[in-house]
Amino acid sequence: MVDKQKKLDQIKADIVKDNICPDLAKQATQLVFGDGNPDSDIVFIGEAPGKNEDLQGIPFVGAAGKFLNEMLAMIDLKREDIYITNIVKYRPPDNRDPFDDEKAAFLPYLQAQLGVIQPKIVVTLGRHSLNCFLPDLQISKVHGQPKRYKGLVYLPLFHPAAALYNGGMRQTVIDDFLTIPSILKQL
Ligand code: URA
Repeated sequence: MVDKQKKLDQIKADIVKDNICPDLAKQATQLVFGDGNPDSDIVFIGEAPGKNEDLQGIPFVGAAGKFLNEMLAMIDLKREDIYITNIVKYRPPDNRDPFDDEKAAFLPYLQAQLGVIQPKIVVTLGRHSLNCFLPDLQISKVHGQPKRYKGLVYLPLFHPAAALYNGGMRQTVIDDFLTIPSILKQL
């Protein structure tokens, strides 16, 4: 655990040293690297920090994070039981979607994070996160269906923020989320 945390701290330091996305870095309050338990079997990956995340330096602490915490409680998990991060680690101005080159610039560091944590399952939140790993899949078609790829199992979920903007989607997100324990049990 200490060893994993040390390695994660090194990856975080590398992002700064390597001057990744300097324009984003300039406009952001701070780097939002990741949070939770590096020994977890489950890693959640979102898109990019929003306003609250930028201010606090922790992923998923705003409205979408609150909904995520509620869903974790439904499967008897807490934030301390999982690890959570984003593809892009600086807040894009005005919460715009991250650009392809920004996602590409951060991908090696995200892969390095996964290499250290070695989770059993990667839960992608939203299409940006899914398509970083599995570019040919459409989230509307594959959400809730675990996909095995290069030694890892991915579970694509709609982004929890989508459920906040679109009430009809809320139950779909919850239903997909509730499959996590049974998928984990089978791994
Ligand atoms: N949405 C994300 O994708 N990531 C966060 O950290 C917060 C909201």
